[in-house]
Amino acid sequence: MTAAASPLEYQVRLSDHARTAAERDAILAGDLGFGRYFTDHMVAIQWDQARGWHDAQVRAYGPLSLDPAAAVLHYGQEIFEGIKAYRHPDGSIWTFRPDANGERLQRSAARLALPQLPVAAFTESLRQLVAVDHAWVPSAPESSLYFRPFMIATEAFLGVRPAQAAGYYVIASPAGAYFAKGVAPVSIWLSEDYARAAKGGTGAAKCGGNYAASLLPQQEAYAQGCSQVLFLDPVEGRYLEELGGMNVFLVRRDGRIVTPELSGSILEGITRASILQLARDRGLVVEERKVSIDEWKEGVASGEISEVFACGTAAVVTPIGALKGRGFAVGDIDAPAGEVTMAIRKELTDIQYGRIPDRHGWLVRLR
Ligand SMILES: *Cc1c(COP(=O)(O)O)cnc(C)c1O
Repeated sequence: MTAAASPLEYQVRLSDHARTAAERDAILAGDLGFGRYFTDHMVAIQWDQARGWHDAQVRAYGPLSLDPAAAVLHYGQEIFEGIKAYRHPDGSIWTFRPDANGERLQRSAARLALPQLPVAAFTESLRQLVAVDHAWVPSAPESSLYFRPFMIATEAFLGVRPAQAAGYYVIASPAGAYFAKGVAPVSIWLSEDYARAAKGGTGAAKCGGNYAASLLPQQEAYAQGCSQVLFLDPVEGRYLEELGGMNVFLVRRDGRIVTPELSGSILEGITRASILQLARDRGLVVEERKVSIDEWKEGVASGEISEVFACGTAAVVTPIGALKGRGFAVGDIDAPAGEVTMAIRKELTDIQYGRIPDRHGWLVRLR
C-alpha cells in the first residue's frame, strides 16, 4: 500500500484567477479569523492500487469533482491534518514538526484503511504549496498560514470495503491571532451524555467522523454558555479524555503538570507532546496518567489544581477558566490566565515564530 520510494514529480499549473497583490494584501490586513479565507492554489495527489501515489499537482484552488458514489460520501473514509507555517522576522517561512504530522497522518490512514503517504511526501506537499502561495503567509503577530492536508476515498463503489482509489489534498488558510483581544480563559462544558470516541474506535485517528460525533455535544456546550466540550472516557465515563479538538492539561500547585495518558481513544496532539517536553525542560514533574473528573472538580475547589488549559495547533494554548456540567460549576471565569499556562504558551510561540532558539530542532524551513 505504500508509494514508490522516488519522490513524486509535481505538475505546477498556476491559477488564471489568482487574487491580485492588492486584493491579497487587503485580505491579510483585515480580520482573518480562522478558516475563512483560502490561498490561490492547492495540492492534489492521486492514489490507486495499481499505480500507488501519482499525478501530483499544484493547481488553482477550486471545487473537487467527485463521483456521487465516491466512498468518502457514503462511508466517511476521510482523515486530515492541521499544521501551520510561521513567518519569521527575517521573512523566512517555517513549519513545526512536520514529521510528527506526517507520521500521524500515516497512523490515521492505517486506522481508516486508507493508503499511507510517505512522510517526506507530506512535508514536500507543504513546501510545494508555499512555493506558489508564500505571499499568503501573514506577518502580523501570532498570525500564520494554516495548512489543512486531507485524504479521501474517491473510488466509485458502494460495496463496503476499503476504497481502491484515494486523493490527498492540501489547502491553506491565512489565520489571524486566535485570541485577537489577548489570551482570555474560556469555559468548558462537561458532556455526560455523549462520547467523542469508543473503545476500539477511531478516537486516536484524526478523522472527520470524530468531529461529526462532537458537533451535537458542542451545540449543547454553546447552549450552556460554554465554548468547548470536555469528553470523558467512553468505558467508565470517569476519566478525562480531551475536548472536541484539543488536549487538556491540569497544573497542580505543587509543580506537577498532569495530562490524560494516551488511552487509545485520545488524539495524540503534537502541541501536547511539545508541551510535555517544555514542561520537563522547566523542571516540572510531568504525569501522563488517568485523571478522573473528580480530581479536576475537587482539585480546583481545594486550590490544589491552580491552572487548567487546553492545547492544539490552532489556538496553541487556551486557558480554561471554568468547568460546568449538569448541576455543578467549578473555577472562576473572570480570573486571569495562569502563570504556568502563559509561560508555556509564550515559550512555544516564541520557538515557532523564531524569537528564541529552537533547541529541540522542531522547525523546518519551507522557504
Ligand atoms: C488535532 C487534534 C488535537 C490537537 O492536535 P495538535 O497536533 O496539537 O494540533 C487534539 N484533539 C483532537 C481531537 C484533534 O483532532
